[in-house]
Amino acid sequence: MSSVDAVPAHHHDDARDLLPNAHAPYSNFPVAAIVVTTAGATFAGVNVENAAYGSTICAERMAIGAMVTAGDRSGIAAVVVAGRADDPLSPCGSCRQVIAEFATPATVVSSRGAAGITTTWQIDELLPAAFGPLALHAGTGSSAAPEPPHPPRDSE
Ligand SMILES: [Zn+2]
Repeated sequence: MSSVDAVPAHHHDDARDLLPNAHAPYSNFPVAAIVVTTAGATFAGVNVENAAYGSTICAERMAIGAMVTAGDRSGIAAVVVAGRADDPLSPCGSCRQVIAEFATPATVVSSRGAAGITTTWQIDELLPAAFGPLALHAGTGSSAAPEPPHPPRDSE
């Protein structure tokens, strides 16, 4: 965890402003996320809950879906997460895995709580020893190199 916030403050403001758009009638826990790519583009998402709870999608994965749909495979520079809690929010385990799929060695996740404190993490802090594309390739027995979805981060 880093006390230094490398993410411009306006991204935190933009994420907070999206909270009313969240569809969170069951949890009453709105979340918004903004993905900033290494190409400089931004993609937004909010949590979209469903009466069939398992069909709920988190804000972070909604934003990454928009990034993929737009064809931006430059890699994630930052994921900014906003909620209404006093403390900063870190992504759930499923979102950490999806962020890692498109992460670079420098990817950070940053959140500013309603109390005004910002916390920024490196993705490797949130998901150490992650299962990634190279680990998948290693288990296939194929000699063909995998197609990197972005600048590879797990080069071991
Ligand atoms: Zn999540």
